[in-house]
Amino acid sequence: MDKRNIEELLEFFWMQREDGKTQLDKILDSKGEKVKTSEIDYLVKAGFLKIEESCIYFLTKGETIARRIIRGHRLAERLFTDVLGLDIRTIESNACKFEHIVHDEVAEAICTLLGHPKECPHGRPIPQGECCLKTTKEIARIILPLSEMPFGQRCKVVYITTGHLHRLNRLSSLGVMPGVVVSLRQRFPTPILDVEHTQIAIEEEILKDIYVRRIN
Ligand SMILES: [Zn+2]
Ligand SMILES: [Zn+2]
Repeated sequence: MDKRNIEELLEFFWMQREDGKTQLDKILDSKGEKVKTSEIDYLVKAGFLKIEESCIYFLTKGETIARRIIRGHRLAERLFTDVLGLDIRTIESNACKFEHIVHDEVAEAICTLLGHPKECPHGRPIPQGECCLKTTKEIARIILPLSEMPFGQRCKVVYITTGHLHRLNRLSSLGVMPGVVVSLRQRFPTPILDVEHTQIAIEEEILKDIYVRRIN
């Protein structure tokens, strides 16, 4: 069995466990076509899984791999939906490819960029990485929505998440796009934004769509 097959199967068992299914016959029943007894035997012999009283359990070696794959998959899903604004129904196959090639450092960078999300867009938990454990209150998130920035804080636009094309177009016609320096001048009654050397008024709603990084 090649590395990718092993990873796919371990990922499958991880999801089964999340759904409360560890009994071998139930797993084989529900997805008989997806996993074969011979494959389970292989994973047991190779020290990824063990079977006790007809239930499947992860051994450390298998748990570590499954955790990494699941984490990569779910972070990719968040990246594709939150940052790239892609439809959740169209991202599955890309997330499946991504999960096998993403290195731990890349996963950490994505996780940090996204503010250490706890769940994927389907509501399943994202296993934490070292980056999430290191994050304490005093280490501020690197990238925040503009709505959470204090007045006058100069920041650089990193990405804009709005799913509304007309909003995105309007923002870019006003000069608000990734790489541009902005700061919030006032919040009420209408948010006013300094963009380079001009001031623009935008809707409160849109502040949440503009993700920025603090600069000095
Ligand atoms: Zn998901
Ligand atoms: Zn993290």
